[in-house]
Amino acid sequence: MEHKPDHIELSVIIPTYNEEGNIALLIQRLEQTMSSMGCTAYEYIFIDDGSTDQSLENIKQARSENKQVQYLQFSKNFGHQYALKAGLDHARGAAVVSLDADLQHPPELIAEMYALWKNGAELVYTRRQDQQSIGFFKRKSAKLFYWLANRLAEVPIEEGTADFRLMDRKVVNAIKAFKEADLFLRGLIPTLGFKQVGIDYIPAKRHSGQTKYSFSKMFQFAINGITSSSAKPLYLSIYLGLFFACLAFLYGCYAVYLALFTSEAITGWTSLIASVLFIGGIQMILIGIAGIYLGKLFVQSKQRPTYIIKANSIHD
Ligand code: UDP
Ligand code: MG
Repeated sequence: MEHKPDHIELSVIIPTYNEEGNIALLIQRLEQTMSSMGCTAYEYIFIDDGSTDQSLENIKQARSENKQVQYLQFSKNFGHQYALKAGLDHARGAAVVSLDADLQHPPELIAEMYALWKNGAELVYTRRQDQQSIGFFKRKSAKLFYWLANRLAEVPIEEGTADFRLMDRKVVNAIKAFKEADLFLRGLIPTLGFKQVGIDYIPAKRHSGQTKYSFSKMFQFAINGITSSSAKPLYLSIYLGLFFACLAFLYGCYAVYLALFTSEAITGWTSLIASVLFIGGIQMILIGIAGIYLGKLFVQSKQRPTYIIKANSIHD
């Protein structure tokens, strides 16, 4: 296919946070994939999410040898989802692929995505298959998250979907129109519609470095994922309230019975304390849930930019 010199067919966006040991190999494997696909008009956009190692230097080094390597440098660490958003905002391709920098998402799969896109798919998402290369704890916690999210979310999130996907320009533009301060692409993208095709893949082991998702980051990610796409947790208080009102009514009947027909009315201190503490705990949780949503409204109302770019190699 002939193309204008400034026409880009495929953009690959890569959130990068302290991935110095992965960049050279990733680019090498991407290059092999591009040439196997016969794609010549492409760009790789590394979004350096405030790395403190040599990641950016390595990217710049690669760029000095290959002008298709581009980068955006964040002013600090904003997080994976915002790096993805920045990539989508700056990508120029007719299709955009997002993948992790650590080679867990095999770059070779892009060839399959690209072929599906050429055949009319507008969104190609991936499903993680064999989970052996992922730690036990991560596997179990991911399972629990998808179970919970799918109970609470308005639109189910398919288990094992990661941020490894191809999006047509139409899809990218649709995502760019969402002005959400907190972004959970995995929950948002399935709701968009379009012609979606899923493919399976086996994730590889992380090539170099360590996971950037600590337990607390994963916990935040899960809370954010659920509360950014669903208001259902807010209704929890109604159900719990009803449940406890019923219990209280039954217990009230029992207390009246004790007072009227027995002489044991003063006992029951233990059950009183236990129920006060328990109900107090439930109330804390519910106030916390309301607080999360209130906090989200507060952040959204400020309309702050969701990321800040310090340096940018893309001139347009
Ligand atoms: N990442 C990022 N910012 C962060 C955390 C992670 O850009 O704050 C990038 C990271 O460099 C990698 C991708 O997001 O390319 C996925 O992170 P990681 O591999 O650590 O997550 P895991 O695969 O363990 O879930
Ligand atoms: Mg990884």
